Amino acid sequence: MLKGKTALVTGSTSGIGLATARALVEAGCNIMLNGFGDAAAIEKERAGLEKDFGIKALYSAANMAKPAEIADMIAATEKSFGSLDVLVNNAGIQFVANIEDFPIDKWDAVIAINLSSSFHTIRAAVPGMKARKWGRIINIASAHGLVASEQKVAYVSAKHGLVGMTKVVALETANAGITCNAICPGWVLTPLVQKQIDDRAKASGKTVREEEIALLSEKQPMHSFTKPEGIGGLAVFLCSDAAATITGSAYSIDGGWVAQ
Ligand code: NAD
Repeated sequence: MLKGKTALVTGSTSGIGLATARALVEAGCNIMLNGFGDAAAIEKERAGLEKDFGIKALYSAANMAKPAEIADMIAATEKSFGSLDVLVNNAGIQFVANIEDFPIDKWDAVIAINLSSSFHTIRAAVPGMKARKWGRIINIASAHGLVASEQKVAYVSAKHGLVGMTKVVALETANAGITCNAICPGWVLTPLVQKQIDDRAKASGKTVREEEIALLSEKQPMHSFTKPEGIGGLAVFLCSDAAATITGSAYSIDGGWVAQ
C-alpha cells in the first residue's frame, strides 16, 4: 500500500515507535529510525527490517531536544531516500511530581521532547510534502492530550499542545494533499509505562501485578493494555486512501478512558 514511500518515526527504538515503524515497513515504506538505545540492538533491528521486508532502512541518532539535530535528520532523510512522505512524531518522556515540586529542567525537557520536537520536524518536513503534493503527519499524543491527571503537568501540557498543533497543521495543509492527525492512546505497556508501574510498586510495597491492575482501573473502563501494534495499525490506516479526508482529528485508542 505504501510501497515507495518513506517514513520517519521519532523515538522508534522502543515501544509504540518501534511497533509503528514495523507496521509502516510491513505496509511497504522505507524507514528512517530514530531514538536512543544500544547501538548493536538498533543495528540488528535496522538490518532485520531491510532483510525481512526488502526495503531501505536507516537510523538517525538525532536528539529530539535539539532543533539543529532535528533539522539535520529531516534533511538527511530527504537526501538519502529522495523524499519524506510519512512523519510520525512519537518520541516522548514522562516525569511525575506535584507542580510545586516539579523540577524546572524536567519541565523544559518534557516540553522540548514531547511538544517542541514536533514543531521542528513538521516545520522542516512540510515544504517537501507540499512540493510532492502528498504527506501524512501523525502525532502520537495521548489520552492526556484530551484530559488531565494530577502530577503530570508537563506531560499533559505538552500533549494538549500537540493536539492543538495537529489542528493548526491540518488547517494549513488542507488542500495540499497532506493530512495531519493525532493518535491518543490510553495505557500501552511499554518501557515508559513499566517504569511508572515499578515506581508505584516500590512506593506502595504492593506487587507489580497489583499495581498494574490498580493503574488500569484508575483510568480505563477496559482493564487491559492497548498493544503497541494497535497504534501501528491505526497509523497505517491514517496513511491509506480510505483516510484521505481525515485530518485534524484526535483518535482515541484508550479502552474507553476519555468516554467517561
Ligand atoms: P518508550 O519509552 O518505550 O519509547 C520512547 C522512545 O522515545 C524511545 O525510542 C526513546 O529512545 C525515544 N526518545 C526519548 N527521548 C528522546 C530524545 N531526546 N531524542 C530522541 N528519541 C528520544 O515510550 P512509549 O510508551 O513507546 O511512548 C512513545 C510515545 O507514546 C510517547 O510520546 C508517549 O508519550 C506516547 N504515549 C504512550 C502511552 C503508553 O501508555 N505507553 C500512552 C499514551 C501516549
